[in-house]
Amino acid sequence: MPEGDTIHRAADTLQRAIGGQVVTRFESVLPKLTRVDADAPLRGRTIERVEARGKHLLIWFSGDLVLRTHMRMNGSWHIYRPGERWQRPHRDMRIVIETATIHAIAFSVPVAELITSRALQQSPVEHLGPDPLSERFSHDAAVQRLEARTDLDIADALLDQTAIAGIGNVYKSEVLFGARVNPFAKVSELTREQLTEIVAVTVRFMRANVGAAATGGIVTYGGMRRTTNRADPSARLWVYGRGGQPCRRCGTPISRQKQGPFARSTYWCPRCQRAG
Ligand SMILES: [Zn+2]
Repeated sequence: MPEGDTIHRAADTLQRAIGGQVVTRFESVLPKLTRVDADAPLRGRTIERVEARGKHLLIWFSGDLVLRTHMRMNGSWHIYRPGERWQRPHRDMRIVIETATIHAIAFSVPVAELITSRALQQSPVEHLGPDPLSERFSHDAAVQRLEARTDLDIADALLDQTAIAGIGNVYKSEVLFGARVNPFAKVSELTREQLTEIVAVTVRFMRANVGAAATGGIVTYGGMRRTTNRADPSARLWVYGRGGQPCRRCGTPISRQKQGPFARSTYWCPRCQRAG
């Protein structure tokens, strides 16, 4: 599933591919976008920059227009040369941005809007917490925002995008294993040192997954994500998706349970991450 690292890789790839270029054609099946395009055409605008904020991808066009997309579970951006065959079916196409040399296609993107920079300030982007993949990331601010979510389980606090931006369900479990914190502990039960360690591990894990993989044309999600530093593809992650398998540190079978208001799967080692 796309998390902050995926979106940052997508933004870097799109920036290199279409940043600074002029839109030669725009197409979408989303009425919300085509309405704006009819009034204020995208064609002829320059793509000023592409950036990620948490799990949101922003494409800035000249003349004060921003395309905000959010991938949720299945969305992705692909880039192709003109005439190159798409690797997803046409029915999944949502947005096409063409320049003279590149076609950028958004597939199955469930959230998309074309807005002014002023309207962006009213969007969810404005309420995001510090982004571990941003150069402006503040470790102390992230700890404080987590600390303020006293009544939440720490695993749910990590998914709260207004606390820290970009963490999804995979990093949630991986980070808590890395910090040896029980996912069901209330934030109020954790020490400042534990929260500091959780933020440090988050930054380490997420930053290790951006940069290197951003060379290919197609930007998909998660396939190469790893937190263990091991090259073996079957040993990429510590606990996520490993229910019943032995803990890589102590051999205890990894536990799995649905957690929080959205019943998201949580994986943890009951021994390394003992409660209390
Ligand atoms: Zn263990």
